[in-house]
Amino acid sequence: MRHIPFVFAGKCPYCGDVLEEGENECSVCRLQFYKFRYRRKLSDDIECIAPFRYDGSISDAIVRFKKSGCRQFAESCGEQISHLLNYAIPPDIVTCVPMYWLDKWTRGFNHAEKIARCTARIHKLPYAALLRKKRHNQTQHKLNAEQRKQNILGVFEAVNLPQIEGKRVLIVDDVCTTGFTLEECGKMLRLAGAESILCAVAALGGRRMVPEVL
Ligand SMILES: [Zn+2]
Repeated sequence: MRHIPFVFAGKCPYCGDVLEEGENECSVCRLQFYKFRYRRKLSDDIECIAPFRYDGSISDAIVRFKKSGCRQFAESCGEQISHLLNYAIPPDIVTCVPMYWLDKWTRGFNHAEKIARCTARIHKLPYAALLRKKRHNQTQHKLNAEQRKQNILGVFEAVNLPQIEGKRVLIVDDVCTTGFTLEECGKMLRLAGAESILCAVAALGGRRMVPEVL
């Protein structure tokens, strides 16, 4: 008779298959990982990298993650982003795109922070909250490109300034499509004295996105 564990380890955040204990993704999904890096310049001095191209299947996984806070998804993305960092100029510190405090309180967690903290732990880098979102704004995906740009202007400010000065900062988020949010966060950190900015997301979209074989 097949042994049925009393406590199930969980489901694969990508395909929903039952996981073995200690796994963050199933062996079938894992076979497709660590092969590509997606990258895109967000501005002259800010670049974004990602393990996934933003498409339907990953967007479903991200929606589930944002609802549940699924630990395995954050761990799996953290591991993959950490792997991509081996091909980049190493950052000194990791931070995330912040949520407005009331939105974070309502959801119970910041999904970007979960991925950022996993990335930092796995890559043995410090994590710190270096940005604050000053007010609630409209959800970006309901707006057109010009409205998105306006919607995000002046929303973020840098905090913990001594930890920013002269540092190479990695900003983590779940998704990058227009890039306006990450670009604005990067600008605030540069103004606060960061030496350089690298962005990393779970999934990257946009026409100028370039897939590279690792
Ligand atoms: Zn799977």
